[in-house]
Amino acid sequence: MKSTRRFLFPIVAAALLALAARAQTEKPYVVLVSIDGFRFDYPQRYKTKNLLAIGEAGVGAEMIPSFPSVTFPNHISIATGMYPEHHGMVGNSFFDPAKNASYDMRNSAKLGSWYERGTPLWVLAERQHMLAACMFWPTCDGEIGGVRPTYWKLYDGSFADEKRVEQVIQWLKLPPEKRPHFITLYFSDVDSSGHRNGPESLETAQAAELVDSMIGKLRKGIDELHLRVDLIVVSDHGMQDVTEGEVDVGRYADASVRVVAGGPVAYFYCKDAEAIEKTYEKLSKNSKLEVYRRAETPASWHFNENPREGDLVAIVKGAAIFTTQELGPRGGAAHAAEGRAWIRSAEVSHHAFDFLRGGAEHKAGQDRAVRERECVSVHRQDLGPGGDG
Ligand SMILES: [Zn+2]
Repeated sequence: MKSTRRFLFPIVAAALLALAARAQTEKPYVVLVSIDGFRFDYPQRYKTKNLLAIGEAGVGAEMIPSFPSVTFPNHISIATGMYPEHHGMVGNSFFDPAKNASYDMRNSAKLGSWYERGTPLWVLAERQHMLAACMFWPTCDGEIGGVRPTYWKLYDGSFADEKRVEQVIQWLKLPPEKRPHFITLYFSDVDSSGHRNGPESLETAQAAELVDSMIGKLRKGIDELHLRVDLIVVSDHGMQDVTEGEVDVGRYADASVRVVAGGPVAYFYCKDAEAIEKTYEKLSKNSKLEVYRRAETPASWHFNENPREGDLVAIVKGAAIFTTQELGPRGGAAHAAEGRAWIRSAEVSHHAFDFLRGGAEHKAGQDRAVRERECVSVHRQDLGPGGDG
């Protein structure tokens, strides 16, 4: 009996897994696309016809990013449904006092261990016997909780956009049992140009046009497959011109204070309460910034619990950015601390919408503002519970 049970168990388990996997293959497909740094007004400003068409066929919203409105915290908020201080990636750069280590977003494949809570959608899908694929997305090339998507690539910014789209279509052309149901796709061109040339430059207009043509190619490719695909296009934050130079925060802290400053936010890690107060007093005198003790940050930020956020948090006022050294005025652009981004979704094959399944309140073509972590809440209903939404 014992040996029969030992023999039967793996067979039953394998049969159940096969059944679970088969049940998942009958569900619709989701392609989640991110256009990094795509500000909410770009479609009208740059007349991006493919993105505008998705908005018309589906639903859309002006998105309010999580604080701080920078790339890694927000991409991971979209994927986990959690505020940055809950999933743990509280900035593109930050220090973790418990680990005594600094986080470096340039090594996306090694950031799986930096998740404190939260399960990104591709991991959730895999855990539920649904195949996932990532054609780039911050941290999706790393192992998170021992899981990687079935199909993934190590991040390579020079990998051509056209090839990214072709790869997604190829995955959707695989036989049903090998075809991923949840796919991410990421484009960086618009963000890179925004930083380099400003949000209202000719170069950024061209980058928006290029990515829009990629969306057109993707949509055409999906249409030809006659699969039920929910196409969701999101961005992570907006962009503003830096016309008021840089604010040097390094000189406001003594050598014992660790300062992590980048773009519109700066975090200060102090050795004790006295150092916190001393630094707070110095920073308060600078009219170019707002400084908060961590526990006193505005409630709307949801940014007051995690020691990774520093003992003090500062945001720059006006069209300037932080630095830790005096560099003088410069051009270019940066994210505002709370800049708005753009989001649209459509069920491509059916030309109906299946996004923010909220009933009559969300009709095709209607817009409303959503918080970033709400973006994929509808798909989380299919995949499992969790998140701050
Ligand atoms: Zn970004």
